[in-house]
Amino acid sequence: MKSLRPGATIGLLGAGQLGRMLALEGAPLGYRFVCWGQAPGEPAAQVCELSLAAPFDDEAARRRFAESCDVATFEWENVPAALAKRLAKDLPVRPAPAILDTVQDRLIQRRFLKEHGFAQTPFADAAAPAAALERLGRPCILKSRRHGYDGKGQFRIEKPGELSKVPALPGGAVLERRVDFKKELSVILARWENGDVATYPVAENVHENGILRATLAPARLPAEIAQAAAALAAAIAEALKHVGVMAVELFWLGGSGKDQLLVNEIAPRVHNSGHYTLGACATSQFEQHIRAIAGLPPGSTSQREPAAMINLLGELWAGGEPRWDVVLARPDVRLHLYGKAQPRPGRKMGHLLLLGPAARDLKEADSLLAALRR
Ligand code: AMP
Repeated sequence: MKSLRPGATIGLLGAGQLGRMLALEGAPLGYRFVCWGQAPGEPAAQVCELSLAAPFDDEAARRRFAESCDVATFEWENVPAALAKRLAKDLPVRPAPAILDTVQDRLIQRRFLKEHGFAQTPFADAAAPAAALERLGRPCILKSRRHGYDGKGQFRIEKPGELSKVPALPGGAVLERRVDFKKELSVILARWENGDVATYPVAENVHENGILRATLAPARLPAEIAQAAAALAAAIAEALKHVGVMAVELFWLGGSGKDQLLVNEIAPRVHNSGHYTLGACATSQFEQHIRAIAGLPPGSTSQREPAAMINLLGELWAGGEPRWDVVLARPDVRLHLYGKAQPRPGRKMGHLLLLGPAARDLKEADSLLAALRR
């Protein structure tokens, strides 16, 4: 693959905070950015040279995007696969759009993992719900096949009769056994077209109500589990022939041995649980993604110091603008705000990164969060 010359333009499908950080981290490499979002003023639009706000089936927007960019990528995996495929006729799209067919639909993603022998949560197609429940047993989680994120479109099935009360999910659903994990982990890595892979230290995630609340990196777990997690994620990236950054979310069941790791989800893009790399690692996940899709060499993934990333969700604004002075005064804390105007509960408005020895657990990060509240 020929590398993209400095001054070339990278097109982002999607215009959220991930696109914003891709553009901000790609700019020092000399690249220019165009984003295509659904509404004016989205986080990436505020920092890109050109931003389009149009539905993804808008023909004029597609032509303008294709004419303005040298390569396209996505910051969101729910971009219509048909659009990515149509764009690929006019310019390189990385990763290849076919990956969207595998990851956009939970059932297809699970079948892909099964075909390749990657251990995962027991699952069944919920098209025949009673049979699926019979096979898996309770407790289970019913998840919509498409467009579920941050726990949306998910229903816990714990007691008899609960499954029949769940409203029909458009596009179908998957039933998954609820597993009793010890920790949720994620592996952030980047893969290049020539097969090179660069993997970041495995991170540990804390979720609340299906939303990522915080990430600790490196994860507190035995070295052999971290190695097995990294190897598993690299094998998945290879099987997908992925190009760019991807995240593999895993459940660690708590024992030793690699059968103790189950794949929960694959995201073929930069990921919230990789935000710690921006500030804690030699190369951020955002720069690394740009390097991979631009055909530049891999950057070092070494982590300089422990990191705790904590998401700033909309509810933090309940009493007014949080007290940023509290964190801005700290040399070991970095504040990232995404430029979103409306703080709604559960909406990711920004994050804090705490660095150094106090980031080995969440105590200090939690007290910082409490101090921000008005
Ligand atoms: P997901 O959108 O599938 O990543 O689910 C969001 C969160 O719900 C996960 O990060 C877990 O905390 C929890 N969760 C999802 N699936 C399962 C499962 N099969 N067993 C236990 N917890 C789960």
